[in-house]
Amino acid sequence: AQDIGKIDPDYVKSFQFENRLVPLTWVVVRIDGCHFHRFSEVHEFEKPNDEQALKLMNSCAVAVLEEFQDIVFAYGVSDEYSFVLSKESELYKRQSSKIVSAIVSFFTSTYVIRWEDFFPHKELKYPPSFDGRAVCYPTSEILLDYLAWRQVDCHINNQYNTCFWMLVKSGKSKTQAQDYLKGTQTREKNELLSQQFGIEYNSLPLVFRMGSSVFRLKERVTEENGEVSGKQVEEEVVIDHSNIIDQCFWQQRPHILS
Ligand code: ATP
Ligand code: ATP
Ligand code: MG
Ligand code: MG
Ligand code: MG
Ligand code: MG
Repeated sequence: AQDIGKIDPDYVKSFQFENRLVPLTWVVVRIDGCHFHRFSEVHEFEKPNDEQALKLMNSCAVAVLEEFQDIVFAYGVSDEYSFVLSKESELYKRQSSKIVSAIVSFFTSTYVIRWEDFFPHKELKYPPSFDGRAVCYPTSEILLDYLAWRQVDCHINNQYNTCFWMLVKSGKSKTQAQDYLKGTQTREKNELLSQQFGIEYNSLPLVFRMGSSVFRLKERVTEENGEVSGKQVEEEVVIDHSNIIDQCFWQQRPHILS
């Protein structure tokens, strides 16, 4: 122990390690619910997809975009959300731990506050938590590859889970359902759904198959009395369930990544 008056702040701070994100790169902060397998069971989420739970996640993502102007796009599925910060963002001087912790704690507290809006008849039984990480992507092409990877994951998981839960709901044990699906390809899973359960995979709701994208609508032309009253920059944050692997999505909305 030493005399407190003699502690040199620079010496103490020298143990903090720099965690600045690479300048002028796209920063993706991905948050993911901790142990949501259990959380979804305790709160009796509908399987495979509880729509209210997804709507709550989406509502929190909208709140995050409204709070952090530097976030230009977000993509969510299941208990995860990826937030994309603009290349030029100087949020928290690009310190990774500050950015991640601020986003993840804002998202989590919003989730708790808005829980009862989406589950008015369900008590929140314990405090949910999310983890987060930041990754830098140097070009828009690689950023779009990242987002495509998440949407492919959404599709694969949703198709598997839809089959799995149909088998379980029809009387199979979880192990039997798992064994039954082992090694099956996309086509076989679609056939199983349509032949055994009369479900056309492609007619399931888009929010389940595509996940959710959140972004700002900008420069919407507003009309008054049938006349165009001029361009008005709108900052409305919207939720969308498009295919974002398709380049058209980005070509039709060039303002998102520019
Ligand atoms: P970890 O803490 O490692 O992330 P986890 O239990 O959260 O573990 P994940 O791989 O993140 O595992 O998967 C999230 C799980 O949460 C899903 O497998 C599913 O069981 C459940 N879940 C999340 N959202 C929903 C939803 N909207 N409807 C039904 N179940 C959901
Ligand atoms: P930043 O986002 O940079 O942390 P900040 O406003 O949170 O900005 P801090 O340096 O963290 O600034 O200081 C926290 C401030 O919160 C204090 O200056 C004080 O005004 C207020 N505060 C925190 N806890 C208390 C408390 N228990 N009682 C009264 N004021 C408090
Ligand atoms: Mg996790
Ligand atoms: Mg999780
Ligand atoms: Mg997850
Ligand atoms: Mg503070």
